[in-house]
Amino acid sequence: MQEMKNRILPIPEQAKEALVRLTSAGYEAYLVGGCVRDFLRGVAPHDFDITTSAYPEQVHAVFADEHLIDTGIKHGTVTLLLDKMPLEITTYRQDGDYLDARHPTSVSFTSSFREDAARRDFTMNAIGYNPLDGFCDHFGGCADIEAKIIRAVGDPVRRFEEDALRILRALRFSAVLDFSIEEKTAEAALSTAHLLTRISAERVREELVKLLCGDAADRVLSVYGAVLAPLFPHWYREAFLTDEGTRVSRMTSLLPLLPKEPVLRLTAFLHPLFVGMGSEETEKMLNGLRFDKRTARRTVKILTHLSDPCTGEKATLRHFLSGVGEEDAALLLCYHKAEANLAKDNARLTALTEAEETLAELCSAGAVCSVTDLAVRGEDLVALGIPRGRPLGAALTALFEAVLDGEVVNIKEDLLAYAKKALL
Ligand code: ATP
Ligand code: MG
Repeated sequence: MQEMKNRILPIPEQAKEALVRLTSAGYEAYLVGGCVRDFLRGVAPHDFDITTSAYPEQVHAVFADEHLIDTGIKHGTVTLLLDKMPLEITTYRQDGDYLDARHPTSVSFTSSFREDAARRDFTMNAIGYNPLDGFCDHFGGCADIEAKIIRAVGDPVRRFEEDALRILRALRFSAVLDFSIEEKTAEAALSTAHLLTRISAERVREELVKLLCGDAADRVLSVYGAVLAPLFPHWYREAFLTDEGTRVSRMTSLLPLLPKEPVLRLTAFLHPLFVGMGSEETEKMLNGLRFDKRTARRTVKILTHLSDPCTGEKATLRHFLSGVGEEDAALLLCYHKAEANLAKDNARLTALTEAEETLAELCSAGAVCSVTDLAVRGEDLVALGIPRGRPLGAALTALFEAVLDGEVVNIKEDLLAYAKKALL
């Protein structure tokens, strides 16, 4: 512990310069939040937040010659661009009362780092650092990071009642960082979970996707699945309360075997609901979460096509490909491989690997996925004497089926010869 606190963090020059300029002007300034947490975990941070006793106009005065953007002036946040690196500088803040389980009714500036840290969600996110003073850790965040624990700052029930998004953040961080949730914090997450329905769908979606793509998504869902019950009652019932829990254990076993790809992880997550209630209810849940159309469509498509034959003969694979399209065929095979890995079914794995190769071949040869991919047009068939209208449509479909079945290749002359022989 002592060692951790004595560490000097390899912070980028731009962040150092911003801290030095603020402190030289007589203000306090610390790096805070995710960047300090990630440094302490030995992971490179992806952005840098600075918290300071300087008011926004004072921050402007200190960096008068630099590029500043008023990102969130209401909350006291100014973005400083130093040598192309964006640094978010926020004035020490205290939140007023929360009335809607999400937004404080007011925020006020304070001159105390401790007060600013006290409004933050978890101890691991409430540590300040600057190269002069080292760590400023009022709530035991360093020890919690070392022990891989997520612990609310202050009384967890109160903190979750103030802002229910913190409940989802706890689950998400637990999945992404593979940290456990401290007992009281976990109990509070469960006892305040009913407040989650007040969080906007977009926020829920963002947290859910990050959670599902986390290293420990399986553990978090199996241990804290019930926290999500108020948000997704049907999902919870189908996953946890039906088939003696076999659906949830299958889902959680499968998750770590899948790449961290949102559509695949969502597919595994929604499988219990899909099995129990079908595609309509699954779509409803995805739409309720305001997923973009493409993600929603692909996820439902994969769930719908899970039992399509996708190994064996080229003809089978051509049909498979035309049914789902190139992109989704790859995801489906990936999902099947994870299932085969789970079942330790080597024969199936080999068949799937072969199918992948064949599919790649078919695709690079310009696979025919629909009638419009045929190397002949309707006009070509009309020229052969096939009447327009329904007969022409039927002829094109027949040609398409013949290509899928491998009876003819998708080359204009061959198709015309085949049409003359078989369709006239
Ligand atoms: P990451 O960016 O890696 O997801 P982060 O900890 O930086 O993690 P942000 O959402 O960028 O998360 O927030 C920055 C900091 O602001 C957090 O570390 C935390 O101190 C504070 N914070 C963010 N959201 C909340 C919240 N809902 N309640 C209290 N504090 C919060
Ligand atoms: Mg961040």
